[in-house]
Parts: sequence; structure tokens; C-alpha cells
Amino acid sequence: MSIGASIALEGVSKRFDSGLQALDPIDLELRAGEFVSLVGPSGCGKSTLLRILAGLVAPSTGRCRLAPGAEAARAFVFQEPALLPWRTAERNAQLLMELEGLAPDELQRRAAEALALVGLAGMEKLYPHQLSGGMRMRLSLARALALRPGLLLLDEPLAAVDELSRELLQEELSALWRQAGFTGVLVTHSVHEAVFLSKRVVVMSPRPGRVVEVVEVPFAFPRTPQLRASAEFARLAGEVTAALRRETVPRAAFA
Ligand code: ADP
Ligand code: MG
Repeated sequence: MSIGASIALEGVSKRFDSGLQALDPIDLELRAGEFVSLVGPSGCGKSTLLRILAGLVAPSTGRCRLAPGAEAARAFVFQEPALLPWRTAERNAQLLMELEGLAPDELQRRAAEALALVGLAGMEKLYPHQLSGGMRMRLSLARALALRPGLLLLDEPLAAVDELSRELLQEELSALWRQAGFTGVLVTHSVHEAVFLSKRVVVMSPRPGRVVEVVEVPFAFPRTPQLRASAEFARLAGEVTAALRRETVPRAAFA
């Protein structure tokens, strides 16, 4: 459905006009069609890095190279689905394409396709208040997928979902990624979520954020619910947690 973009971050840092250094220089390569998660303490610059990847924020140093081309479609999904309450599911799914100026028949075709992809076929005429929290999140995903993004940026999309729904949505998201072919970058506070979904987990330091470790996740796809209960899964999650903890130990305590 879409062709995954490859991305090379070369010495990308961010210092805001306020003087706050959000990110120290970061070098990171994302392969086309890869799924990567970013984990790190609050305020370490994860959302800022996603905005740089989205082309919404300019880095202060370095550059972010996208192939094929900076014009490759990029789409964002946030924790808050931000749906328009007066629009039906299908009209919400068409929203971003409308802003891109796509023709009406293309809008309808792509929205129907994206809704089917996220399991909302048959719900096209329902309004957001008639959908469950999980369905609203799927609709928000469909709205992004309808753009056929080469790069999908997910900023804690499942943070507000209850534990069981969250695991089911992770499994659906993983299947979607495999089917749609986009390159995915997920920010999450959940180490288990990061390991379950990703080929690699990027661990960041406290602010100013930098990459402290990249943990390879060798499990085959599709990832199954049984994987969560395996010793190897627990070991990898432990490795990511240990990398996070090494960085977040209050240094003052040892000064
Ligand atoms: P995270 O997503 O990891 O929690 P953010 O990327 O949102 O972190 O923010 C990193 C730091 O940059 C925080 O200290 C935040 O307050 C600051 N920050 C974010 N956006 C801006 C901005 N537009 N101007 C100034 N500071 C900002
Ligand atoms: Mg954030």
C-alpha cells in the first residue's frame, strides 16, 4: 500500500529559541520498511525528534535525509485521536487527504481501503461518540494510513488505552505495519510495547537526549501473543530497562 522511506539522521540536534537544549547530536539510520521504537525519560526530546522526522521542526545542527525524497508522505498519530465529532468515521478518515487536495473519488476510495485495513469496515457512517476508545484510535490510524505514508510517526498512541486493549492494538498495529509497508517510528513509555513491535529499540538519555543504546530485537514476524510470555522476550525487555536505568540514576546521589 505504501513504500517505506529510509531515513538518515546525521548529527541532528535541537536547541530551542529559549536556549533549551532538547537534543544533543544524534546519528541514526532507519531502513526502509523498518519499525523502530524510541524510549527514554519524559522530557528527553522524543517528541521533538519525531517532529524533526516529520519535517515539522528544523534541526539546529545536522540534517535529516529521507529517501525517496523529502516530499515522501509522512503521517503522525498522537495519543489523542483528535477526531472531528461532527464528521462520520469515513469523513474523518478523509480529512488529511482533503487538506492535501486529493480528488473526491480518490478520497472515498482511499478512506474505504484504510478503514477496512484497521478493521472498521461497516462502521463508516458512525460518529466518533458511537465508537469505543480502541475504535477511535483505529480511526485515527486509518486517517493517517489513507495518506499512504512512507513514514508513520506514532507518539504514544496507545498510552490512554487499558492494558488488555493495548496488547490487542499492538498486535493489530504490527499486522498493519507488515501489510501496509510503511517505515514506523513509535515513541512509547512501555518497554514491553517497544520490544513487541520493533526490529530495534532506541534508548535515549535524559535531556538533552542522545542515543545511548540500540537494542536489536531478533524475533520473527508476525509477533504472537505467546511471545510476551517467553523467557527471551523478558530478557530483551530487561536489557532495554537496564539501559534506561543506567542513564536515569540520579547522578547527584553519587556526587
Ligand atoms: P519528550 O517527548 O521526550 O517528553 P519533548 O520532545 O516533548 O520531550 O520535549 C523535550 C524538551 O524540550 C522539554 O524540556 C520540553 O519542555 C522542551 N520543548 C519542547 N518543545 C519546545 C518548544 N517549542 N520550545 C521550547 N522548549 C520546548
Ligand atoms: Mg513526548
